[in-house]
Amino acid sequence: PVTNHLIEALGLSARPDAPLARMPDGATVTYGAFHDGAARIAALLAAEGVQPGDRVAAQVSKSLTALQLYVGTVMAGGVFLPLNTGYTSAELQHFITDADPRVFVCDPDAKADIAALTPASLMTLNASGGGSLADGAAAQPAGFDPVPRGPDDLAAILYTSGTTGKPKGAMLSHGNLADNARTLAEYWRFTADDVLIHALPIFHTHGLFVATNVTLVAGGQMIFQPGFDAQAILDALPHATALMGVPTFYTRLLQQDGLAEAARGMRLFVSGSAPLLAETHVQWEAATGHRILERYGMTETNMNTSNPYDGERRAGTVGFPLPGVDLRLTDGKGTPVADGDPGIVEVRGPNVFKGYWNLPEKTAEELLADGFFVTGDIGRIDADGYLHIIGRAKDLVISGGYNVYPKEVEVLIDDVPGVVESAVIGVPHPDFGEAVVAIVVGTSSDPATPDAIAAAIAPDLARYKQPKLIEMVDALPRNTMGKVQKNVLRETYGNLFT
Ligand code: ATP
Ligand code: MG
Repeated sequence: PVTNHLIEALGLSARPDAPLARMPDGATVTYGAFHDGAARIAALLAAEGVQPGDRVAAQVSKSLTALQLYVGTVMAGGVFLPLNTGYTSAELQHFITDADPRVFVCDPDAKADIAALTPASLMTLNASGGGSLADGAAAQPAGFDPVPRGPDDLAAILYTSGTTGKPKGAMLSHGNLADNARTLAEYWRFTADDVLIHALPIFHTHGLFVATNVTLVAGGQMIFQPGFDAQAILDALPHATALMGVPTFYTRLLQQDGLAEAARGMRLFVSGSAPLLAETHVQWEAATGHRILERYGMTETNMNTSNPYDGERRAGTVGFPLPGVDLRLTDGKGTPVADGDPGIVEVRGPNVFKGYWNLPEKTAEELLADGFFVTGDIGRIDADGYLHIIGRAKDLVISGGYNVYPKEVEVLIDDVPGVVESAVIGVPHPDFGEAVVAIVVGTSSDPATPDAIAAAIAPDLARYKQPKLIEMVDALPRNTMGKVQKNVLRETYGNLFT
C-alpha cells in the first residue's frame, strides 16, 4: 500500500478549520487541531518503537485525547486495543498476556499496578487528557506521515463484551472499519451539518467506531460528553442533530422533564448494542414524535443491519441488511431455514472481521469457508423482510425436545405487576433434558410472588414453555457492558434438578 487506508477514509486532513468537537467546558476543537494532536501521538509511538502490526493497548477514561490515541495508533501503523475501564488488574492480566502490547496507556493512578503486569512501555493519560502521553506527544514535531497500510491490515483488536464467556479479541482491518463507517454515514444520511451527541464509552465498537468514524467520514461535529448524564444530554439536544445510544439511554431520558421540547430540532435517534424494548420505541415516539432507528451489530462484524432511514422503523426489529452485507438464517449446520422460521444469523461482507486473535480453532468454527460468520444470535425475518433478534443460540432452551426461546417467556414475566426484570434459562433436568427456570427481580415495594407470576403467564404459554421453577433475586448478574450473564446463572442454578 502507498497510503494509510483508514486514515485516508476518515478524511481528517480535508477540512482543517471545520469544528470537530464541542467540549464540556465550551471549547471547540477543530479537525486540524485534532489531526495535529493525533499525528504527534503517532510520532511518539513510532519513536517508542511501534512497528506496523504492534498493539497499542489503552485502559483510560474517555477523553478527546483517547480518541486521538486511536487515530494516532492507526497512523503509526499500529493496532489499537482499547480495554474496558471496568476491568480490574486481575482481569487485565488475561488481555495483556493474550495481546502482548508494545505500548500500554493507562491512568496515572494505575501505573504501578500495570507495570507489574507487562513489559510494555507505559504511558499515562488522565481523564482531562493530561499525562506522559500528552507531554511526550507535545514534544514531537508536527506533520507525521501516516505509515502505509492496506485494507486487509489490522487497525484494531477489540475484545467482545464477555456476555457468553471469556472475551475474545476480534481482529478488525482498515477495510472493515472504513467500509462500515462510509456505509452507515450514507445510510443514515450523515453530512457536515450533523452534530452528534457522543456520550457512549470509547472502548466498545458503538462509541469508538460507529459514533466516531461516522462523524469523521461525514465531516460533522460531535458534542463530546465524558459519559452518560441524562441532564447533560437534555441540555445538548437543542444544539444537536443526532444521538447514538444504548437502550438505557432512552429509558432514562424518558424520565426527564422537557424532553419533547429539547428534542424538537433533532434529525435522528439511533439505538443498538442490546435489544430496545418495543415499549420504549412506542413511548419515545409518543414523547418526542421521533421513531428511534434500531440497528444490530457486534464487535466482530461492525454493523450488520439497520432499520430504514426513510421507510418504516419497526419497533422490536433491527431492520434490513446494510448495503454490501449478505445475511442468512440457518439451522446451525449450514442449511437455510424455511421462510419465517427462526434460525442462526450468519453474515458476510466487507464489515466482517479477520478472525479471533490467538484463537484459530474458534475462528475456523465461526468463519465459514464461504465467508459467512456465524453470529450465534437467533433471528427471524418477517413477511416484510425485517430481522427480529430473538436471542442467543447459547441461551436457547430445549425442554422435552421442544425449543423454548427465553425472550418469549421473559416478555410475559416482565409484564406482571411487581416485576422489574427477568432472565429465563435452561438447566439440566433428568426427564426433560433441560427445564425452563425463571430468575426474577421483583419491585422493592410489593414484589410479585412466584405463584402470582406462574398464574399470570400460564394462559399465554404452552405447558412446556412454562418455568418449572421461578426464583426471586435482588439483581441479575451483569458484565461491565451491563449485559445479563446467563452463563453465570446457568452455573448458579445448574444443580437444581440433578
Ligand atoms: P461475547 O461475544 O463475549 O459473549 P457480546 O456478544 O455481548 O459478548 P458484543 O460484541 O458487545 O459482545 O455484543 C454483540 C451482541 O449484542 C450481538 O451478538 C447481539 O446478541 C447483541 N445486540 C447488539 N445489538 C442488538 C440489537 N439491536 N438487538 C438485540 N441484540 C443486539
Ligand atoms: Mg458475541
